[in-house]
Amino acid sequence: MKALIATEKPFAKEAVDGMNDIFATAGIAVALLEKYTDVQALYDAVADADALIVRSDKVSREVIAAARQLKIVVRAGAGYDNLDLAACTARGITAMNTPGQNANAVAELAVGLMIYAARNSFCPGTGSELKGKKLGVHACGHVGRLVATLAQGFGMEVYAFDPFVPASAITNAGLRVCASVEELYATCRYVSLHIPATEQTKKSIGRRLLSAMPQGGCLINTARKEIIHEDELEAVLRERPDMKYMTDVAPANHAILQASFGARYFATPKKIGAETAEANINAGLAAASQTVRFLTAGDTTFKVN
Ligand code: NAD
Repeated sequence: MKALIATEKPFAKEAVDGMNDIFATAGIAVALLEKYTDVQALYDAVADADALIVRSDKVSREVIAAARQLKIVVRAGAGYDNLDLAACTARGITAMNTPGQNANAVAELAVGLMIYAARNSFCPGTGSELKGKKLGVHACGHVGRLVATLAQGFGMEVYAFDPFVPASAITNAGLRVCASVEELYATCRYVSLHIPATEQTKKSIGRRLLSAMPQGGCLINTARKEIIHEDELEAVLRERPDMKYMTDVAPANHAILQASFGARYFATPKKIGAETAEANINAGLAAASQTVRFLTAGDTTFKVN
């Protein structure tokens, strides 16, 4: 059996060494395709692979078609919108992510962006403090829960909305439950986004929610750019000189927002939420372990299709 690790943006060396050890112990051969610039290289490398591990690499219908022996694809990370799940399912290929492995890295960045906003993008002048402010955590998954804990440490009042998490789990973590997404945005000066990009959530954050935010409203997005209605965000930023948008996932209208809104808008030059040594290693090792457990014991924990 052969596992292919295909990463345009490679794993850290420590991660690759650890993954090689995990596969060697299980008697599974490993091929490494790093920094490829032509997708044909991926088509060729995946042709005889039983397992495929990727990071943000696109596993398209064409990649699946080229992967004639593939049984499992694992996205080393939380979001798996880079995998064509329908194509995987049609071929009986199991698709997985590695939930939680990079959550701390993303949560720390979200809080960093909040501080950056509160202190006027580190420009001279009077900023404000997070202490005592209301934070809305939009989705209470791995990242959202950690952001909530960190924000509580700053003395923020934390609210959460996640229809798929029992209210008791949210209140047990010391958070206030919002009954609707509208209530979350209308209540909280800061909102941190942690919903996945799905057909239901794409473009779901727009004028209706943003214009209801209290004075000094600040939206933090370390989730996905697709969940934002970008034209409506731009319109609200124009209408409300008090509003700020800080993101790890630059929108298509980045240049306009940057030119128009100065310190009220910031986007990391490239998505860096999970770019810590720790997250890189954790996600890589988890992906290798999950692959081995699937290939040797049929374990489908973390299957997403
Ligand atoms: P997770 O799967 O643990 O949590 C997602 C949460 O969203 C779940 O609790 C789910 O119930 C909730 N949810 C789903 N649909 C919802 C809806 N319509 N309304 C409210 N809640 C909803 O994922 P996570 O590890 O917390 O990551 C969250 C997102 O962050 C990922 O989907 C990914 O897109 C993004 N992410 C970004 C980076 C980065 O580098 N910036 C890294 C990791 C994850």
